[in-house]
Amino acid sequence: MNALIIDPSSSYRQLLSKLLESYRFTAVAVSTIDEANPAIQHQHFDIICVSLNLADTDSLAFCRDVRQLDSYKHVPIFMLTSSKDADVNQLALGAGVTEVFRKQDFSSFQLCLENLVERLNDEVDNNGQILYIEDSASTAFLVTTTLQDHGYHVDHFLTAEEGIKAFHKNYYDLLLTDVVLTDLSGLAVVRAVRDSNSEDKKTTPIIAISSFNDNARKLELFSAGINDYVTKPVMNEELLARISTLIKSRQLLITLNNKQAQLERLALTDQLTSLYNRHYLMDTVPKRIHQAQRQGYPLCMVVIDIDHFKLINDNHGHSTGDKVLQAVAKVLVSGIRWEDIAARFGGEEFVILLDHCDYQNAINIAEDLRKAIASLNPCDIEITASFGVTTLKENEQDFSSLFSRADEAVYEAKESGRNCVVFKE
Ligand code: GH3
Ligand code: MG
Ligand code: MG
Ligand code: MG
Repeated sequence: MNALIIDPSSSYRQLLSKLLESYRFTAVAVSTIDEANPAIQHQHFDIICVSLNLADTDSLAFCRDVRQLDSYKHVPIFMLTSSKDADVNQLALGAGVTEVFRKQDFSSFQLCLENLVERLNDEVDNNGQILYIEDSASTAFLVTTTLQDHGYHVDHFLTAEEGIKAFHKNYYDLLLTDVVLTDLSGLAVVRAVRDSNSEDKKTTPIIAISSFNDNARKLELFSAGINDYVTKPVMNEELLARISTLIKSRQLLITLNNKQAQLERLALTDQLTSLYNRHYLMDTVPKRIHQAQRQGYPLCMVVIDIDHFKLINDNHGHSTGDKVLQAVAKVLVSGIRWEDIAARFGGEEFVILLDHCDYQNAINIAEDLRKAIASLNPCDIEITASFGVTTLKENEQDFSSLFSRADEAVYEAKESGRNCVVFKE
C-alpha cells in the first residue's frame, strides 16, 4: 500500500511517514504540489495526506484535480491543517477531501488510519505483496504467473541489486529469492534484508529457492536468517502453501503489533477529551526538559484550571460538564503548534508544554487561550479559566518543580479574581 504525503514542514513529513510506515504503507513525502503531480503520474497511491497550506499551488485545487482522475475517485484524501478557520472543513469536503484533521489532534488521525487499514486489509484478504529475485527469466515467468493466479502481487527482479533496492523502497509481505544469482548470491540478499534498519523490514519472511539440495548450503542460509527453503524444480502447491503460511503468520504478528500500539496509545490518551493524559505528560516532560537543557532552548509550561467548574456540574449536570471539558480541550489544541503538548492533568485541569518558546510568547499564548475560552460559551454556558505560566530555569531538571511553579501561578490567578494569566518566574 502506498501513501503520498504533501506537507511543507520536513519534520511533519517525517512524523507522518513514520506513522504511515508503521501501518505498512510505503510513504512518499513531498513538500509541494509541483512534486506531487509527477508522483501521482508515476505510481498509484492508496491514500493521500495533504496539508492545507502549501507554498506553491492551492491544495484544494489539487484535491479537486485528483478527484477528476478515474483511479482516484475512491482513494481517501486526508487534509491536515493547523487552521482554526471553521470554513476550512466545508471548503475541503467540497473539494473532494475525505476528512479534515487538525495537525495537533494526532490521535484522531491515528484512529482513522487504524480503521482504514483494517478495512483495506479485509479487502485484500491474503493477497500479499511478494518480492521475487530470480535470474532465470523462464523460471521467473512460471513462478510469477502461478503466484499471480493465486492473487499475489509480485515484483520480479533479475538481479540481487535491483531486488534489494526495491526491498528498501517498498513494503513486501515476503521475499522469495533464488540462491544462485548473476550478481550477488542469495545469501547476500538475505543478509541485506536482515541488516535493515527498520524492525518491520528486518523481519520480512524469506524463502530461498535453489536446485542445490545439500544440507551444508541450507544450514548456511538458515543461519543467515531465511525462514524456509524450497528445492527446484518448484512444486507449485508446495511453494504456495509455504508462502501462504509465512505471510499469514507475518500478518497476524503485524495485527498484534498494531493492536499493542493502539493499546499503548489509548493508555496515554484521555478518553473524554482525546488529549494526552497525565501518564504521557509525566513520561514525556522529563525528556523534553532534558533536551531543552542540553540544547539550550527555552521551554515553558502553562497550567489551566477552569473556574468554578463544580458549579457547572451542579447547575447543568455532569454530562454537560463533560461537554464543556471537551470544548475547552479543543480550544487548547487549536491554540498551539503540533509539536507542543496539551494534556488533561486531571478533572478540569490541563497542562500545556511549549517547546522553543520563551516566557513572553508563552504568556501571549496563554492570554489568547484565556480569551478564546471566555468567548467560547459551550452549551450556552459562560465559562472562564485561570492560567499559570512558568519557564524552565537554568539547570532545572525535574518536572515537579516546574509544575509546582505553574500550579502556584494558577493559585495566584484564582486569588486575584480568576479569568486571568499569572506568570511566575
Ligand atoms: P475553582 O475556580 O477554584 O477552580 O473552582 P472549581 O469548582 O473549578 O474547582 P473544584 O476543584 O472545587 O471542582 C472541580 C470539579 O470538577 C469537581 C469535580 O466533580 C469536577 N470534575 C472532575 N472531573 C470531572 C469530569 O471528568 N467530568 C465532569 N463533568 N466533572 C469533573
Ligand atoms: Mg539462478
Ligand atoms: Mg477549577
Ligand atoms: Mg481544579
